[in-house]
Amino acid sequence: MNIDLHIHSTASDGTLTPLEILSLARRLGLAAIAITDHDTLAGSRELLERSARLGIKAVSGVEISAAPPSLCPQRGSFHVLGYGIAFDHSRLNQILERLQNARSERNPKIIQRLNDLGFALDLAEAAELAGGLDGLGRPHIARLMKHKGYVASIDEAFDRYLGHGKPGYVDKFRVPCQEAMRLIRDAGGIPVLAHPGVTLDDGLDLDRLLADLVAMGLGGIEVYYPDHDAVQTARFAGAARRHGLLMTGGSDFHGSLKPEIQMGVGSGTLAVPYTLYEALAAALAARRGHVAASARE
Ligand code: AMP
Ligand code: ZN
Ligand code: FE
Ligand code: FE
Repeated sequence: MNIDLHIHSTASDGTLTPLEILSLARRLGLAAIAITDHDTLAGSRELLERSARLGIKAVSGVEISAAPPSLCPQRGSFHVLGYGIAFDHSRLNQILERLQNARSERNPKIIQRLNDLGFALDLAEAAELAGGLDGLGRPHIARLMKHKGYVASIDEAFDRYLGHGKPGYVDKFRVPCQEAMRLIRDAGGIPVLAHPGVTLDDGLDLDRLLADLVAMGLGGIEVYYPDHDAVQTARFAGAARRHGLLMTGGSDFHGSLKPEIQMGVGSGTLAVPYTLYEALAAALAARRGHVAASARE
């Protein structure tokens, strides 16, 4: 029995709705899933409302665009996953709204840069392809560039124009990673370091970084991920044991925006065991018990 705890829906930059994700997950025989959209709870909330009756386990989720910690000099975002968060936590919702606003304020600036580079495209066309302005970001602009024949693939759009440091790149607000983790904890959830094999440079002192992040509230690490080879997977699993972290895993499925990645199996060989879901659910239940007990004291 396998699971997939890293899935994007139409609420951010995935191309399937939460309901379509749920049907596909059932067809694939996945035992548990989480929708972890960028900086929004809307898709995850819908999944949890609908999954209860359908015999598939679901845990609430989000992927927060954080600023990297000082130990981690970085290109771009530091993604922090949050599992088991309460949807109605007001500070978390406020910060997510600020991050969404930062994304939507950036989009016209990116379009302007692309126009200056000679590409004829506008925001309305991107929104039309994306099914609206909500959650619209670089992946949708990349898709528009492909649609118009300016690039051959979404990857090419990022590699040449939209990626960090490229001519169409515009920076945006990111929440400090310590604050992202504190908010996830406050909302009853567990913060997890997303795709460390992608986020972290190879030469980085992983144990030092994880010690720092654990002190800030980190509770887990995404060990299983399509881009992680066997050596990385073993390295991150070892680090999880040493630092007392939960292990999670998922495909980072985005539907047709990342056609090479399939739900559940990633690029073909991913297999995230159900026991990881059980450990995560037990840790969340223990947290809730603890919170309830301290409320009684
Ligand atoms: P944005 O929210 O506008 O900053 O877009 C971020 C999202 O773009 C990421 O979470 C990925 O889904 C996607 N992305 C970032 N870099 C790349 C890349 N090099 N190739 C393809 N997709 C990317
Ligand atoms: Zn994405
Ligand atoms: Fe990510
Ligand atoms: Fe993701």
